[in-house]
Amino acid sequence: MKTRIHSMESMGTVDGPGIRFIVFFQGCVMGCKFCHNRDTWDKHAGVETSIDDIMNQIQKGLPFFKGNHGGVTASGGEPLIHAAFIEELFKRCKALGITTALDTSGCVELTEEVKAALRQTDYVLLDIKHMVDEKHKILTGRHNDLVFKFADYIKTLTLDIWIRHVVVPTYTTDIEDVEKLSLYIASLGKNVKRIDILPYHTMGIYKWDELGFDYPLIELSPPSEAVLAEIKHILEKHNKNVYL
Ligand code: SF4
Repeated sequence: MKTRIHSMESMGTVDGPGIRFIVFFQGCVMGCKFCHNRDTWDKHAGVETSIDDIMNQIQKGLPFFKGNHGGVTASGGEPLIHAAFIEELFKRCKALGITTALDTSGCVELTEEVKAALRQTDYVLLDIKHMVDEKHKILTGRHNDLVFKFADYIKTLTLDIWIRHVVVPTYTTDIEDVEKLSLYIASLGKNVKRIDILPYHTMGIYKWDELGFDYPLIELSPPSEAVLAEIKHILEKHNKNVYL
């Protein structure tokens, strides 16, 4: 089986527990204004790659991935565009005794292929972009109904959920909206093991430039420490293990 991959990273430490092999899949279902991986959007770009190619790379670092629940993370772009490939990749990783993580927007239909991939997944890193639909649409180009359906589904599965939320000044910093997010995450229940607050940054702007696209948030600065602390405080009102 083959699919299109943007890139691979052999020693990731932030996209799931332990040391991880990260596969960045090509193609995305959203069009986030703040995207720092603009070069992953085009599903026809990247390099056609087989599962054997990836497993050969993973084998080289296997002793590193085996400790501290390390393993492989499927990221992107949107990895669940490649659900059948991921199901097979994750099966082979689990057979090697390493964990599997999916870094997803959750903005996908719950097809049988997606459900099968989730059955092979130990950790879902779910990026909730915005609670308010019209603001979600402005920020990402998509409505958020599929994200909530996805979250409601994975809360019923045997896996850990790590919520991620990007703090984008003026777009996601309305206190009422953050309160809604805090309550919503709490409603997802015991599968939620941690929440990571990700400050908006400008490190991916050069990719928009290289591709010849105007960066939509060119006037925006990263959030202040005070704003981040306030958002952390609100998320901690209803949830544990909130990290900044
Ligand atoms: S979901 Fe991720 S990769 Fe896709 S546009 Fe948004 S930030 Fe970029």
